[in-house]
Amino acid sequence: MKVGIVGAGMVGSAAGYALALRGGASEIVFVDLNEKLAVAQAEDIAHAVPFAHPCKVTAGGYDALDGAGIVILSAGVAQKPGESRLSLLSRNAEVFGKVIESVLKAAPDTMLLVASNPVDIMTEVALRISGLDPARVIGSGTILDTARFRSLLGGHLGIAAQSVHAYVLGEHGDSEVLAWRDARAGSETVDSFAQQIGRPLTDDVKARIDEGVRRAAYKIIEGKGATWYGIGAGLARIVQAVRDDQRAVLSVSIVTPEVQGVTDVALSLPRVVGAGGVLHTLTPALEDSEAAALRASAETLKDTASQLTG
Ligand code: ADP
Repeated sequence: MKVGIVGAGMVGSAAGYALALRGGASEIVFVDLNEKLAVAQAEDIAHAVPFAHPCKVTAGGYDALDGAGIVILSAGVAQKPGESRLSLLSRNAEVFGKVIESVLKAAPDTMLLVASNPVDIMTEVALRISGLDPARVIGSGTILDTARFRSLLGGHLGIAAQSVHAYVLGEHGDSEVLAWRDARAGSETVDSFAQQIGRPLTDDVKARIDEGVRRAAYKIIEGKGATWYGIGAGLARIVQAVRDDQRAVLSVSIVTPEVQGVTDVALSLPRVVGAGGVLHTLTPALEDSEAAALRASAETLKDTASQLTG
């Protein structure tokens, strides 16, 4: 599948690199306002291809996106140290208006994969501008927060993150919700697993993991200015689920008819992702406190989105 990447900065290039290494695309095309940057990223990644999987990596204008099955939207302005994702909103929404029009002119049948932050709001903006089926306008949402949650839980339990089945729901950002109640290690609840191996998940441990997930981006930004490898790999994972019709259960963001009484809001829930985009959305069993937090997260996002349209 041909994959377009609009925005060849850190996140876009990390996604392209991850796709090339994983064999996730037959062709990758970079588009950026900064043409020299797009060409440089394409050439650099093309030189990794002989060590990975066959893939044509190029840069071009929007017309080069012709025939793309999915276009990753990673264009925008970077998050500054200490800046909340929501404060990036107006700067990035403006960029999206122009970008999406040009993408759809070149590739009217493409799916859109939104990576620019604040990603849930940008997903809603992308849906509104594109007029596509909501199932085909997917935001990376909490795919990365979920990975961080699994990584920290796996670390505590001494097992591979791949054996942890746990999701972060709601906003990709401050109001996100770690769904502890249904979190599993293998087929056990994480609490039962932790008891059995003698490493109980005390309130302190849970609070440390919650903080670790919630503050991860801020911590990385303090050290290196931005984050890109984790999200790059997450984007490549979503592309592969679509390309191979994997029907993988991933926490991604789409505009959702109703969540905890809040209507038409883009946020993350576990969703079945395959060739048609999001095929199903799952409703996880939540503690009352988790359900209330998810509702609050949905309301926050809904408020922000309506400020933008209002
Ligand atoms: P991030 O860390 O989110 O990837 P960067 O600043 O590294 O942020 O990358 C964002 C990229 O988006 C930059 O390369 C920038 O040139 C690009 N960009 C900004 N506006 C547009 C636009 N209108 N069209 C295409 N690319 C854009």
